[in-house]
Amino acid sequence: MNKGDNEEINPDFVTRLAGFLEFDEGRIQHLFEKNYLARNWGKHDYLFRFDKEISRIERGTVFYEKDESFEVIMGFPKIRRAMVLDPTLRKHFSGLEKIAVEEKMNGYNVRVAQVNGEILAITRSGYICPYTTERANVKLNLKFFDDFPELVLYGEMIGPDNPYVPKEIYGIESVEFYIFDIREKNSGNPLPIQKKHEILDEYGFLQVRSFGEIPLETAAEEIAEIVRKLGEEEHEGVVIKDPDMVLAPLKYTSSQSNCSDLKHAFKFYNEAGRDYMLSRIVREGFQTVEWDENEAEFKKRCMQLGESILSPLRESIRSIKNGQRLYEEARIRVKDPKTATEFENYLKRLGIDAVFEEPQSIGDEYLINIKKINKSTNDKTQAILEGDLW
Ligand code: ATP
Ligand code: MG
Repeated sequence: MNKGDNEEINPDFVTRLAGFLEFDEGRIQHLFEKNYLARNWGKHDYLFRFDKEISRIERGTVFYEKDESFEVIMGFPKIRRAMVLDPTLRKHFSGLEKIAVEEKMNGYNVRVAQVNGEILAITRSGYICPYTTERANVKLNLKFFDDFPELVLYGEMIGPDNPYVPKEIYGIESVEFYIFDIREKNSGNPLPIQKKHEILDEYGFLQVRSFGEIPLETAAEEIAEIVRKLGEEEHEGVVIKDPDMVLAPLKYTSSQSNCSDLKHAFKFYNEAGRDYMLSRIVREGFQTVEWDENEAEFKKRCMQLGESILSPLRESIRSIKNGQRLYEEARIRVKDPKTATEFENYLKRLGIDAVFEEPQSIGDEYLINIKKINKSTNDKTQAILEGDLW
């Protein structure tokens, strides 16, 4: 977002917001100046977003004026990771008899809510994504939002017609919302799992796969088994939750998902974060020890890990050596071609370099292929091949 966007924040607004958030006015001014607090743009410029976690307000939290005050849609809280299942689960969920296990499905995070009478899809960072918003209005049973205007759906957008995380592994034809939490506006409090299932069933929403409730005592072994099986299908892993949603959830993932992340990261090695790469390698170390693997299993893990690092590197370097440019392919499916144009402008605004191909019609919708260019890896590789130093 450019710096100019926060210029017209008026003093009266700052005063009211300071009162609402219980911050002093100088702090609010400062947050706007730094763009830690920023407006969305265009027709959604009445929606403000936190671009950074501030005083326990989650990054990606959005708010807007409503009835003389404000209404808040809390960001999705980061889920901490168990590096080993035992004793971590017993320690973290100590006092509970049972814990609920859900699949961690791999797409992108989205919140859907009614805002000033409109159904909007909000990304993890608090932007209104035009593509996801159109899909939400086409795919979801909107009656839910009339019946519960104070509730927000938290879910994962999954499937191949996906501009951010396209995956074929779920057998989804286009793209679908899989809901995993229902939370209240303002407080951000989640509904207990039982209540969530009841409501989601009633409105016919798709839900992330549930493995039910498991006794805490045997959870580590059972979850290891579940995650091994998920891994065999290239699925990501699990999120483990307190059935009452009071204690924070934990996540745990399969080796295959670590490797698949690494493949992507090393293909675009100059874009990917170093922490991102390192943490996925360290996870493999803890998993092989906890699962007490024999030499044959260990060698297999070594091969898979090594390949997921070196193969994409070799492929990227070779392509550039052969004069090709590297890019990521993605695809969207829209009802209204205008949505594709809005989405193209939206990506531009976020600084993502993407080329949109001509729409092809499919039924009463349009498919659009997108090429996302990863300039930094392209340029770095080219330069190294021309003799530049690292
Ligand atoms: P990653 O998805 O790689 O773990 P992240 O940084 O987004 O990266 P977190 O901040 O821990 O990770 O968030 C967990 C992610 O898991 C969210 O993106 C959320 O959408 C997704 N998710 C998928 N399935 C579930 C589920 N059943 N319950 C909660 N979150 C889920
Ligand atoms: Mg994810």
